[in-house]
Amino acid sequence: MTRRLVLASRSRHKVGELQELLGLDDVVLVTPDEVGIEGEPVEDADSFEGNAEIKVRYYGERSGLPTLADDSGLEVDALDGGPGVYTKRYAGPEATDEDNNTKLLRELDGLPAAQRGARYQCVLAFWDPRSGHAPVFREGRFEGRIATERRGTGGFGYDPIFEPAGEAPGGRTVGQMSSDEKHALSHRGQAARAMAEYLEGEGW
Ligand code: IMP
Repeated sequence: MTRRLVLASRSRHKVGELQELLGLDDVVLVTPDEVGIEGEPVEDADSFEGNAEIKVRYYGERSGLPTLADDSGLEVDALDGGPGVYTKRYAGPEATDEDNNTKLLRELDGLPAAQRGARYQCVLAFWDPRSGHAPVFREGRFEGRIATERRGTGGFGYDPIFEPAGEAPGGRTVGQMSSDEKHALSHRGQAARAMAEYLEGEGW
């Protein structure tokens, strides 16, 4: 039997990506639009987990269906863990990926590789409002460093300036990797594999 899971996002890209990353044949992700939910929650928590919980409760309460939410971002050591929950709007409320990358490269200008450490974090939250239980969380982290210039056009966000820890400084960025290679290493890939294991064992 097919199980429907609401994904707390309006991004078609995210739905497709998570559907693939979860790899569960009997689970179909549906968007808030497909179950008739309008509006969006205010994501004002100070942690990825807090924002994932805000989203999973918002859409779970309104749909009455099992719901999955993800929240992610970048932590840079030289910025004391910033931009963190502000990753998407690092260079301003309407910032593009290009603007964000430019600002980060400028902030770290002149720093040696050893001081350019960073990581992507992803938290996935699952909540079944019919269960009476609290949300369940699974996380992934992707260690690396910020490159000294953009390389590659793959991925999105900070991928052209993010070098995975397994690469030498000046080596490939995530923007130069295939999506299969990225997903095997990435924060979202790790969190999704852990969540899939939980969902497989649950009778929701
Ligand atoms: P969201 O809240 O999960 O949509 O992501 C917040 C922001 O983190 C995105 O807008 C991107 O700038 C950044 N981000 C999250 N995951 C990735 C990734 O896999 N590659 C590049 N940037 C990412």
